[in-house]
Amino acid sequence: MALGIKKKDTVAVLSGEDKGKRGEVVRIFPDKGRAVVAKINLVKKHVRPTREKKGGIETIEAPIALSKLQLICPKCSQPIRPKMQFLADGTGMRVCRKCGEQIL
Ligand SMILES: [Zn+2]
Repeated sequence: MALGIKKKDTVAVLSGEDKGKRGEVVRIFPDKGRAVVAKINLVKKHVRPTREKKGGIETIEAPIALSKLQLICPKCSQPIRPKMQFLADGTGMRVCRKCGEQIL
């Protein structure tokens, strides 16, 4: 996960129907290389009725490939490809190439 996108990051969509949109990462599936981003890649899903809920059509966020996402720097609000900076204790920190902001 060197240049990884993490949960709660703001990302931009690079391709597909939602190209150019931005959203917050709500879930990551590292083994599948996919992430769920708020309000991005919405699909309609048919839901069977259960005791708690009526059935019908629900809109949900489908996982999108990480390769279609680019991290947005929280400070300069630019889509960036962060570089890694390693701290003394060996933990990696993502750093914006544009403004130098450290992104946790
Ligand atoms: Zn920046």
